[in-house]
Order: sequence, then structure tokens, then C-alpha cells
Amino acid sequence: MQRRAKLYWVILCSIAALCCVLAVLQYRWTRELARAEHDRLRNGLQAAVRVLSREFNSELSAITSALQPTSEEIEVQGRETAYSLRWQEWHKRSSRNELFTRVALVVPQDGELQLERLDQTNGTFTFQPWPEEWADLRQNMLSRWADRSRGPRSSHPYLIELPRFGSPGGYRPVEQEWLLLEVNVSYVRTAMFPELLRRHLTPVGIVDFEAEVFVTGQPSELIYRSHPEDHARIGDAAEASVALLELRPPMFNHRRPPPREGRMHEPSPVRRGPPPAEFMMGGEPGPGPGPGDSGRGRWRLVVRSRGGSLDAIVERTRWRNLALSGGILLLLLACVGLLFTFSRRAHKLAELQINFVAGVSHELRTPLTVIRTAAFNLRGKVSQNPTQVERYGSLIQEESQKLQSLVEQVLRFASARSGHIIRERIPVRIERLIEQGIEASRHALDTAGCVVEQHIEPELPPILADDQALKHALQNLLENAAKYGTDGSRWIGVSASKAAAEPDCVEIRVSDRGHGIPKDEQPHIFDAFYRGRRAVQDQIHGTGLGLNLVKQIVQAHGGKVQVESDLHQGTEFILQIPIAQAGKVG
Ligand code: ADP
Repeated sequence: MQRRAKLYWVILCSIAALCCVLAVLQYRWTRELARAEHDRLRNGLQAAVRVLSREFNSELSAITSALQPTSEEIEVQGRETAYSLRWQEWHKRSSRNELFTRVALVVPQDGELQLERLDQTNGTFTFQPWPEEWADLRQNMLSRWADRSRGPRSSHPYLIELPRFGSPGGYRPVEQEWLLLEVNVSYVRTAMFPELLRRHLTPVGIVDFEAEVFVTGQPSELIYRSHPEDHARIGDAAEASVALLELRPPMFNHRRPPPREGRMHEPSPVRRGPPPAEFMMGGEPGPGPGPGDSGRGRWRLVVRSRGGSLDAIVERTRWRNLALSGGILLLLLACVGLLFTFSRRAHKLAELQINFVAGVSHELRTPLTVIRTAAFNLRGKVSQNPTQVERYGSLIQEESQKLQSLVEQVLRFASARSGHIIRERIPVRIERLIEQGIEASRHALDTAGCVVEQHIEPELPPILADDQALKHALQNLLENAAKYGTDGSRWIGVSASKAAAEPDCVEIRVSDRGHGIPKDEQPHIFDAFYRGRRAVQDQIHGTGLGLNLVKQIVQAHGGKVQVESDLHQGTEFILQIPIAQAGKVG
């Protein structure tokens, strides 16, 4: 037995240790997984904003190309007409007609740069004075023009300046005139960015995001904000950022950039003659940093996921995974623990049952031997002696009674197991019940020399009971008192009264002044087959079924049973049984 218990513990500890190892491994794996997930999300977000930037720049590039006529067109149609026709053509086909607030043509004339403003509705140009807010640009253009197109180009945040290059004398190409396009920030803010962001960020799993577009180098110059109601700006918490409206320095390009597949289908004029310089937008093929974030764009887009940073999202997922796997491991441990407990219980029960079989066999053998011996003697000379016949007769009667009560107890236990612990209930008077119980235990009480003191409260209401079953329960308690409670004194008390705590119950108490029940045994005495240490050591006859039957009988009556016992003081069993309700008394 000891070896088996040890084996159980070894197995349990091994499984627990294995679970701990698994938990540690799981913890490490989830951390690595979280790191990989974080990188994946961040890279995905950065890649998405790059594609967004490329698409935005390409679209603007396609529009500017569509608006700029070729040198041949200008030669054939005249400058203003060529620009006007290009504008009208684009205006007719494009869905972004509100993209520019102001469009103008800047033409050098008489040593000055004249400004011709385009009427966007009919496509005609009229000379107008330079607007005050374009003064810096004018200054920049003048100085570059005087310096033959050298010097830094103005990087006005909202003005796109499209020069047309030509080399009329066959010399180095110089800027001939400029088309100025002022971006309609309000249109870009309301019509372009929300749609672009949603289309590019949702597929990488960032559904709830926060985005800002501001002028490069001037974060306070906000162009777009996805959540204007938020007080805090994204600032350093950005998880991805990219340059927008990236204008590259003009350069020679023999080929016109291939038309981009996109939402806009701009006319693609064929150029002939000397190669013109083109105004390139970020994301177009060409020298310099690759598409994406060169940092030279006039605007900057910054994005972060809302509801916490990517780190927080990944951390949440990680803890969820950990909780899940931890839960599974705990469940596994709990199952092993339960299995262990159940198997130990089953083991204990099997042990108790073996003891029970041994006990019952012993209980059967003693009366049977007495009966056999008595019968043998009665067949011999003893049969001539009437006194001896009388003695042996009563011996046989006593022993067969013991046998009968033993068999009855086992049968009662068997029927309790099959759910038939009590039969039909009728109103029963307490006095009568106690009387019957004492009478049934008379032999055991007399043999032990017990004095039974009764105290029954007058006019107790009847209880609704199976009198035979309850009598059996009382008999068990009285016989136990006679068996175990006569060490100090042979006094047994039986009392009945109304229960103080339960007004609808009658309380029957069976007390003795014996050795008492040790505290550690008290929780087990009502278990089937359980026998106390003293009962086993002193070989006091019994089966371990008595108190279990008492409990089942009382509970079947809707009552309860308790024990109060102190070592060397005595034991008291208290039965509480509901009284018969007026309506139920049959
Ligand atoms: P059995 O008497 O056949 O052993 P029971 O179920 O009647 O089985 O009792 C279970 C155990 O409770 C007994 O073995 C004994 O140890 C303890 N016990 C019961 N009644 C008393 C009592 N009046 N005084 C002391 N111990 C008792």
C-alpha cells in the first residue's frame, strides 16, 4: 500500500514538474511570438503607408503631367491655348476637379514675370497682379530665372510649380514658363486622406488608427487629423511615417513616365523633338532614394494604431495566449489532482470494503459457531436435562437474533443504495418511537448493564415517519452507546423536545458518558464501512454501516443528524426530524 501511495506521489509530482516546464517554454515562445508579431505589424504598417504615399504622389504626378502641354503643342496652338486645352481636357475627365484652389501660368515678359490666372470654369487665362502670399515664390522664381534656372526651388507647402523646359537656341534647356497649382487643402483633407488611409491600413489589420499630416519640419502646421477631437498629438508615438508630396528636382528625361494604373486616366500626349525636362514626383522612377520615405516630401504623414500602441496590442494578445495556455495547463493539473484524489478515495473505499467483508464474516462466524455447538449439545445427553435445554434454546435464540439484526442491517444498506431507504410515512408519536427503539435494543443494553434515562417533553407533535426505519436508527444509536459509551459510566440518556433552532422539528438526543470520539474521526463516522480506531483495536463487533444508515434514514425524513463529542466526556447524537404538518397527517 505504502509503495503504491509513493508511486502515486511520484507520478503526480512528475506531471506537475512537466506542467511547470511546459509553462516556462510556453512563456518563452509567446514572448518570441509577440516580438515577431510586433515586427510584422510594424513592418506591415510602414509598408502600407509607403504604398499610400506612392499612390498619392503618383496620382498628383499623373495630374501634373496631364496639365502640362508639350513644346510642340505650344508651338502649334500658342502657349495659353495649349495650357487651356490641356486644362479643359483634364477637367472634363477627372474626378478631382476640386483639387486646386488656384491655377496660374507664369510667363517671363519684358524682364518681369507676368502672372496669368486661370478661370477654372471656362479654362481662360487673364493677367493679374501677383497675390501677396505668393510674393516669396515670385522672388524665388525671379532669382532663378535671372540665374538661368539655377538655385534652390521654392518649397511652398501648398504650391506646386511646374516649369516647362525648352532650348530655343539649341543651347542648354532653360525654363520657359511655369504652371502654378495651389493644392486645395480642404479637399485633400476631406476627400483624399480618409479614403486613402482606410484603403491602405485596414488590409494590414490596423482598423482603428490615428493619422496626422503636417508640413514637413513644422508639426504645428497641420493639414489633416483623423481624430481632431483628441487633445494629444501623435508626436513621437508614431508607429509609421512617410513623406508625402515629394517633389524632386527637375531633370532631363527622354521618356515620358509610363502612365500609372490608377484611378485617374489622364491623356498621354506623345512628345517629339528635343527632350523636355520633366517635373518628377516622389515614387516615380528616377535617381535618389527609392520610393517611400526619403524625408524630402513637403508633407509628412504619421500613423499609429488607436486603443494603445502596437506594443500594447501585441502585449494584450500575448497575455491572452498565455492565459489560455496557462488555463489549459492548470486544467490538466486539476484533472490529474482530481484523478489522484478519486483513485485514492476508491482505494480507501476498497480497503474499507475488504475490512467490512472480514468484519461481517467474523460477525457471522461467532453466532454460527455458538448455534452449531448448542445444537450439537442438544442432540446429546443434554437433551435429557430440561434446564440445559432451556439454556441452549435461549442461547440459540439470542445468537440467531444477532444474526438476524446483522443481516437486516446489510439488507437495509443494500436497499438504501438502491434508493429505498424508507417506506410509506405515517404520523408517529415520539414517545412510542423511543419506547420501540429502547425495546429493540433491550438485549444489548441489558448485556452492557446500561441505565437508560428518558426525558420526553410533554405534548410533542407527531412526526411523519417510517416508524420501522426510525426505530432502526434509534436502535443503532442506543446499541452504539452501549458498545462504546460505557467506559466511565453506564448511563445513557434519551431525550426528546422541540428543536430550539428549528421550530418545525422535533429533536431526539441519545447521549452517553463514554470515551468520546476523537476529533479527527468525527468527520468520517457517518461514512459507509467506516470504523473508529478503538472499535478496530478492541475488536468491538460491528460493520461500520450503522451511523451511515442513521444518517440516510434521517435525511430521507427531511431531517439532519449531528454529533457532539468530547474525549473522555461522552458523546451525544442529535436527530432533528420535521413534525407532521396538519395537512399531511393522514
Ligand atoms: P460500527 O459501530 O459497526 O463500527 P457505526 O457506523 O455504528 O459502525 O459507527 C462508526 C464508528 O463511530 C464506530 O466504529 C465508533 O468508532 C464510532 N462511534 C459510534 N458511536 C459511538 C459512541 N457512542 N461513542 C464513541 N464512538 C462511537
